[in-house]
Amino acid sequence: MRDSAVTLSETQGRIITSVGGLYTVETSCGMCTCKARGVFRKRGILPYVGDFVQLSEDGVICEILPRKNSILRPPVANLDQILFVTSSCRPDPNLLLLDSFLAVAIYQNIQPVLVLTKVDLDAAEQVRRLYTSAGIPVYAVDYRNGETVQAVAALLKDKVSMMTGNSGVGKSTLLNAMEPSLQLPVGEISEKLGRGRHTTRQVQLYPCAGGYLADTPGFSTFEAEQYVQMKKEQIADCFPEFQPYLGECRFSDCSHVCEKGCAILEAVQAGKIAKSRHASYCTLYQTAKQRKEWES
Ligand code: ZN
Repeated sequence: MRDSAVTLSETQGRIITSVGGLYTVETSCGMCTCKARGVFRKRGILPYVGDFVQLSEDGVICEILPRKNSILRPPVANLDQILFVTSSCRPDPNLLLLDSFLAVAIYQNIQPVLVLTKVDLDAAEQVRRLYTSAGIPVYAVDYRNGETVQAVAALLKDKVSMMTGNSGVGKSTLLNAMEPSLQLPVGEISEKLGRGRHTTRQVQLYPCAGGYLADTPGFSTFEAEQYVQMKKEQIADCFPEFQPYLGECRFSDCSHVCEKGCAILEAVQAGKIAKSRHASYCTLYQTAKQRKEWES
C-alpha cells in the first residue's frame, strides 16, 4: 500500500510503528525495525508515524522526507483524511466542537470527513444537510444497511486516515463492522482499555479496510485548540462554504463578525450559510484574537 504521490526507492519506507525510539519501517523489501540518527533529537525533530524516511546502509533512519502535514496528538504525519465520528443523537453533536475540528483539519491540509452514527435512532437529516451544504463530505452509517458501512470502508482504501470521536459515538462498533479482524471490544470496557492503551508511548498505523488507520484516543473538548493555533485572519479560509464570498466584503480587512457590508453576514442572513457555522466561526475568531492580545 503506497501513497500514489510518493515514489520510494528501496532504501526508503514509511514508519508504521513508533515505540520508545524504535521504529518499524515498511519498505518495498518488507518491514524493518530501526533507530533514528541522533541528529534529529539535536535539531528538535522527531520522526513520526506516517513519515516517509530514508534509511542508511546500516539500517538507521537518516532523513525524513518532506511532510504534507503532521499533527502532534497523536504524533502522526502525512494523513490523507480525518474521519470525525459523531452520533446524530445521544449524545447530540456538539457543533462548536465539531466545527473547530473541521476547521483545524482544513487548516492542516487534511481532508475532513463527517461520519454520522446512530442514524437509526434519529434521522440526522438536519446534521447531514448542514454539513453537506458547508462543503464537508458526510457519510451516515446505518447498520441495518451494510452499504452505508461499506461506503465508509471504501474511503479508507489506500489512504492513511485517522478516526476520531468522543466516547459513546460508536467508533469501535464502526471499526469492527468495517474490519472484523480488529475485534475491538465495544462499550464502556473498550473506553477504559483505550485509555490504558494510550498511556503507553506507542503510536501505530494499523491496517484497516485496505488502508491504514492512525491510532487515536477520543478527542476531549479542548484539543482542537491545542492542535494548532490558527491565526484569526486564516480562520475564514477553513470554512469551505465561506469561499465564494471572501473578497466581496466592503472592507478588505473585514473580520466577518459584525461589520457593515460583510458578504459573509449577508449570506448568513440570506440562509446561504448556516447560522451555527457562522457562530462557530465567530467563537474561533474571538478566541484567536484574544490569544494574540494576551500574547502581545
Ligand atoms: Zn466580511
